[in-house]
Amino acid sequence: MRTLLILLLSVPLVLCGHLPKKYLLDSYLNNPVVKNFMEYVRIDTSKEENLELAVDFWKRKAQELELDFNVYYPGGLPICVLSWYGTEPSLPSIMLNSHMDVVLVEEEDWTYPPFSAHMDENGDIFGRGTQDDKDVGIMYIEAIREMKKNGIKLKRTFHMTLMPDEERGSRRGMVKFIETKEFKDMNIGFALDEGPVSPGDNIEIMYQDKRPWQMKFTTRGPSGHGSSILASTAMEKLFKLIGVIGTYRDEQKAIMRASDPLDFGAYTSVNVNYVRGGAVPNVIPGRVELIVDTRLAVSTDVTEMSNRVSSWLQEAGNDTSVEFVRKILVSKATKIDDSNPYWVIMRDAVQELGIQIDPIVCPATTDMINIRQLGIPALGFAFKPRTEIRYHAANEYLNVDNLLHGVTVYVAVLSRLGNMSDVAYVQ
Ligand SMILES: [Zn+2]
Repeated sequence: MRTLLILLLSVPLVLCGHLPKKYLLDSYLNNPVVKNFMEYVRIDTSKEENLELAVDFWKRKAQELELDFNVYYPGGLPICVLSWYGTEPSLPSIMLNSHMDVVLVEEEDWTYPPFSAHMDENGDIFGRGTQDDKDVGIMYIEAIREMKKNGIKLKRTFHMTLMPDEERGSRRGMVKFIETKEFKDMNIGFALDEGPVSPGDNIEIMYQDKRPWQMKFTTRGPSGHGSSILASTAMEKLFKLIGVIGTYRDEQKAIMRASDPLDFGAYTSVNVNYVRGGAVPNVIPGRVELIVDTRLAVSTDVTEMSNRVSSWLQEAGNDTSVEFVRKILVSKATKIDDSNPYWVIMRDAVQELGIQIDPIVCPATTDMINIRQLGIPALGFAFKPRTEIRYHAANEYLNVDNLLHGVTVYVAVLSRLGNMSDVAYVQ
């Protein structure tokens, strides 16, 4: 009834060219692409137990579009694969990857509930995962829907892969999946994955990830009464450790500031993200833990970095140890020159739409680090221009126009990629 009323009211207004915002927003709420996006965002996949709800969602989308649907559990968590077979299925396939999981929220910092997918009067849809990375999954599937609706048939097979555990390092997701027969049987020639938000008009395409070194340090020392001043306490060592790491962080900050703002590979990011130790005010703790997240600059030599970490331990003092939460030594780059036919096709398809692209090193790490290690070219790409960067932050959002425009961008890109004949890529 409401829809009918909106239609009746909006038709003459559209003709007059004076469509009031409210009616425009209502029509968005009835748009199936927007509805699907909102439904997906409303599944709280920050909780592992809700991943099965996302699996149900993708199973329904596969059924609607008559795509092949499979779910695998190589690491105990679900991985969905939606396959749209090409007319020449022996050609290497195209992987369209995104992750279903999202990071936790601190709900009190949000203007609207983080899993409500609330759309405000500007058409901004708020919710955890709207930028990272549920937007991409919806843009892929809606682009496939659009192409199928228009009777487009492509030579190559597309495999839409939906991963769990990306935000925790992919050990129960992509890392396990690439070892399976099912993955190898997909015969992937090229992969697309999540891309960054761009504050400006240009779109950034990621061709390499930074190597994560996430370290848990433990300092130890004598425990005792809170009124004493003991030598070499765990806290004293922690201060030294934070001091020396802070000095290194300042150096890297200076390199970052002196570099091109898009040159994320120029510096090593360093952040102390977790400190735990002590229980009550009057007891000196015998043990303190510190977790440091670093993402290495492209040029950083791993031996040099290992030596640096050893020097931090020495600086902190005896009985200080480190264990790695995550440590990747090598991160291969996908070529972004004329020798890579996939890059050429992507670049041309996007530029023909009048969109300028900047190739960048990903400031963080994505599932593509695992794919590139296999020698498969992979790019991180998404259409999110003129958007404030809010991944992992409160009030993460995506504008509805951006979502809908993004689908048309993917149609242009995927229809070109899907019709590529066999090509050679040498890393
Ligand atoms: Zn992500």
